[in-house]
Amino acid sequence: MISSSGGTCMLKNLLAVVLLLMLIQNSEAHSHKNQDTQRTIYVSVKLKDYARDMKRLQSYDLDITGVDIKESIADLFITKEQYNQLQEMNFNIIQDKSNKATSALDEQYKSPSEIETILKEWERTHSEIAKVFVIGTSSEGRNIYALKISDNVSTREVSESAILFNSMHHAREVMSPEVSLDIIETLITNYESDLKIKSYVDSNEIWVVPMLNVDGNSKVWNGSKMWRKNTNYGHGVDINRNYPHLWGSCGGSSGMKWSSTYRGPSAGSEPEVQALMNLVKDIRPVFDISYHAYSEIVIYPMGCKGSRTQTKEVVEKIGQEIGQSVDYRAGTAWELLYSVDGSDIDWMYNAYQVIPFVLEVNSRSEGFQPNYDKWRDKTVKRNRAAWMKLLDKMSATGVKGRLDETYPSPENYQIEVRDSSGEVFQNYKVNPDGTYHIVLNEGKYSLSLKKGRNSLSTKEVNLSTSLLPLHF
Ligand SMILES: [Zn+2]
Repeated sequence: MISSSGGTCMLKNLLAVVLLLMLIQNSEAHSHKNQDTQRTIYVSVKLKDYARDMKRLQSYDLDITGVDIKESIADLFITKEQYNQLQEMNFNIIQDKSNKATSALDEQYKSPSEIETILKEWERTHSEIAKVFVIGTSSEGRNIYALKISDNVSTREVSESAILFNSMHHAREVMSPEVSLDIIETLITNYESDLKIKSYVDSNEIWVVPMLNVDGNSKVWNGSKMWRKNTNYGHGVDINRNYPHLWGSCGGSSGMKWSSTYRGPSAGSEPEVQALMNLVKDIRPVFDISYHAYSEIVIYPMGCKGSRTQTKEVVEKIGQEIGQSVDYRAGTAWELLYSVDGSDIDWMYNAYQVIPFVLEVNSRSEGFQPNYDKWRDKTVKRNRAAWMKLLDKMSATGVKGRLDETYPSPENYQIEVRDSSGEVFQNYKVNPDGTYHIVLNEGKYSLSLKKGRNSLSTKEVNLSTSLLPLHF
């Protein structure tokens, strides 16, 4: 039996332990609380063993801003304390470019309200092929916009497949919206005069989201030039670590609120992430490019070490082709940088069989915010080859069709794709509107329409360089 005095004593002890724990937690939180604002030092580090050292840098939860893989150099945005730690660990710091983190941002880059104005102006002047959509609202209440470009732009044409281009998951990467704006401008202004562009616009539904992280970008314009996350909860979330597929699963994000790669309180918690997820769910794009800066690389899924897509023969081949078209190196995140979990491309591939890529535009020497006059046009021009290649792929090798009304609830059907050796290559889920657009490599395949385990119809195809209409 516990005496009343003994009970009080135990309670007191318990209280003391709880208080102590709270104190420790508090001081821990306090020492890191201002890390986002305490980062002032921007340095380049020459790595002895690129893969091993990148892993080490990630394990210290440092803000790795970009790399030069060929030269084995990583750029870091860090606190004084982290700088000292790097020196103690004998990292070879070869350059201090902290002045780049504080100099004024070139006024010609775009703010959220400028993006809104530009998109509405394209819609006003070219309403027959351009239409503005609000796809979500940020935690600070800003609209997130998409522009759809297509003929008969106000209607969903089931004969046309969708493709998505999006920019600025990360606030400081101000060149990324410029690429999206250039896609829009190139397609719209050349529509009447260029047959290839006209065909892109007439035969596809092209969706462009030029600025996803509107709040973070606003913070960048208000003095936090190196801000990466959104601004939710005050400390912000890295919205490209917040997508639900394998969220927080492989050390490819941080659980620390102050970290630049903080994954958020739960999978898919962030309004910007939900906005893009809902758009993808609605339009079911065949391809996606997510534009980031910087490192001059093309990244394809999956993000966790050792992991690849089931259809890697198709995904990685196209990724390599895109890389070659702009002279960027292509690979998975864990091959080129470090493991990444909760990214948009991993989620898109796994949830909706999108073939998605990240393009990190600009090199280490240009960084996040290069001189606009010197670099803007050069960068967007160089990148045209990549997105045009993907638009070419919309009518290239693969099959496309639609289940007619004899198949109610088409989303219950799958198309099983077997390669020439008889191996199952892909189990493609038919879209809710009955459409399917399966991108494949050239060669022989056997495609079976299935409902559950029942095979209803099988077609043998021999695919060439162009898209084959296929009906079951
Ligand atoms: Zn980024």
